[in-house]
Amino acid sequence: MEARSYDLYIGGEWVKTESYIPVLHKYTGECIARIAKAEQQHVTEAVEAAWETFKTDKLTPFQRYKILLKASELMEERRDELERSLIREVGKTRKDAMNELDRTINTLRLSAEEAKKIHGEMIPLQATEGSENRLGFTIRVPKGVIGAITPFNYPLLLSTHKIAPALAAGNTLVVKPATVTPIATFLLVEILEEAGLPKGYVNIVTGAGSQVGEWLLDEERIAMYTFTGSGEVGRRIKERSGMRPVALELGNNSPNIVHLDADLELAARQTAARSFHNAGQACIAVQRIYVHESVMQAFSDLYISHVQQLKVGNPEDPDTDVGPMISEKEASRTEEWVQEAISQGARSLLPVKREGALFYPAVLVDTRPEMKVVCREVFAPVVTIIPYSDLEDAFTQANDSEYGLQAGIFTRDLNIAMKAARVLEYGGVVINDVSTYRNDVMPYGGIKNSGLGKEGPRYAVEEMTEERMVVINL
Ligand code: NAD
Repeated sequence: MEARSYDLYIGGEWVKTESYIPVLHKYTGECIARIAKAEQQHVTEAVEAAWETFKTDKLTPFQRYKILLKASELMEERRDELERSLIREVGKTRKDAMNELDRTINTLRLSAEEAKKIHGEMIPLQATEGSENRLGFTIRVPKGVIGAITPFNYPLLLSTHKIAPALAAGNTLVVKPATVTPIATFLLVEILEEAGLPKGYVNIVTGAGSQVGEWLLDEERIAMYTFTGSGEVGRRIKERSGMRPVALELGNNSPNIVHLDADLELAARQTAARSFHNAGQACIAVQRIYVHESVMQAFSDLYISHVQQLKVGNPEDPDTDVGPMISEKEASRTEEWVQEAISQGARSLLPVKREGALFYPAVLVDTRPEMKVVCREVFAPVVTIIPYSDLEDAFTQANDSEYGLQAGIFTRDLNIAMKAARVLEYGGVVINDVSTYRNDVMPYGGIKNSGLGKEGPRYAVEEMTEERMVVINL
């Protein structure tokens, strides 16, 4: 079967370029598509198209609602094709691809609803002496052209988390998907077009982040950047965006606490399942598990028994739980980090094994806080189990991180649960489930080096609109 070529998508037209970049099947290595490599002038044209469309925007909130809702229905109809595409371009297992698709459909529906809810508030100006004849209220207006840059690991869901709320709010966009997993964004835009989105609202430019991404940062007419990806690139975007707002969804090395009163079976089952899905390449994947020393052995035994049941291999096999990482290079980097920890005294409870881009689940104990597998974002199927003696110690270790996206704690004690909610320095604290829990309706975003701003359609709409004060002299 010949690999499909994806041209740039500018002003509703498919634009050919001089050269094309292959997109590989992440398990077999075959070329499954080619994407256009944009030049700087294409990026400028895409911004121009988005800008012109914004200036002449004719879509009412109800029309935006209908388009986004229709897109969710069309996506449901095209499930099989989208699932297959995610399996091939990301190396996702069928289970992970289905999960991403379910969540994407929900995110489209939630965004559709938000299009109908954008509103301001009355401000009681008349209550101030001298302003008795003033009527005051706020309205929310779209920001303009949004520059969206997305990562490789959830290409359909994370581009939807940017595109759908931006459209709901009345903005237009230029989107730059990850170079290694760009197809999902093209399929999403095809669906939006079929759902009735007019030309120019969403424009796609593809190519290396160090070029196309940087050119996007050169564009003064972009009103706001919304980015999901690594801290390094996030920092760069913040530096280059000047006074313009940015939303940054960055990394984490998620801690999960298993207290001595926890339901150990629940904790072991959930942590094992959510340490290794998407081959550990999820920003809130379980990475550090802090276990009370009195239940350390019992928990570790249960945890390992669950991990041993995970099937590692070809993501096309519907029974596979852990597929390949995004590249052999990333799997080798993971192997190096694990071997380095072992050379510094850590022990692995399972054989350390890599076959090309497949990295088998690794569970480490006897680690130290300064080891990379603990203090950096591992972004791979690698977990460390660390004992603690008292809860204060667990909270201190969990907070000992440059990141602050989400954390989890297993306990049956309501007071401990509420204390954790207060003292864990994270954007979200999940009680009796893992740090990985995310429902797309919730506000989602980190503190510290995990980023700025919140996603989740309602919160993204807030970020992507301006609050404008209106005063009427009656
Ligand atoms: P990455 O930062 O390497 O790339 C992300 C995007 O930025 C890509 O589209 C890339 O081409 C582009 N880019 C690269 N250099 C650029 C530059 N100089 N200027 C502008 N754009 C540039 O990240 P990745 O490897 O694709 O994704 C993994 C990272 O994403 C992890 O750190 C993970 O934690 C993070 N992530 C965070 C969340 C969240 O919601 N917080 C979700 C998923 C992934």
